[in-house]
Amino acid sequence: MREMSQVVAGPRVVWPRGPAGFRALLLAEQLSCLDYHWIGESNRTVLCSGSDCSLCERGFQRRWKAYCPCLTSPSRPNVLEMTWSAVRGVVASMLDQPRFRGAEVSLRRTSSAPTARVEGVFIRRHVSDCLRPAFDVGPVLCCLFGRKPKVQLHDAAELCELLFSTEWEARVDNKGETL
Ligand SMILES: [Zn+2]
Repeated sequence: MREMSQVVAGPRVVWPRGPAGFRALLLAEQLSCLDYHWIGESNRTVLCSGSDCSLCERGFQRRWKAYCPCLTSPSRPNVLEMTWSAVRGVVASMLDQPRFRGAEVSLRRTSSAPTARVEGVFIRRHVSDCLRPAFDVGPVLCCLFGRKPKVQLHDAAELCELLFSTEWEARVDNKGETL
């Protein structure tokens, strides 16, 4: 638990803070994926507004994160935040069963640096019918970003295809994989 953000009440967004990492059991069939910009000078994250985004026009890198309702120890509902590198690792290790709901995954950073790459790996599959239902991550993302972001939903099979496509590899090479 020391690796995760402090949980007081209700689901919070959690991500690994260091190499020890933690495990999470994914509850949704699809990930809520969104683009954002990292404003280094003011140390903040701003959502990308898409085709008319002024930050894109000003040359700020567009980065990508995915969110999924999950259970973290001890069976606490939270929202797992995954970078593209984490999702890529997860889907790569579940290629024969590309399904998020019921997947127990492990996330860790490659070092204790706050910008170190996040690695994800599929651990094992739980019987998804026995799990609690998925919940909407929208209200939690509202708290995180101050408004509800426009997300794209992708299931595991779609993300397998997307994350290993030539187009995506070209895109993420210079898109800030470490945050
Ligand atoms: Zn943008």
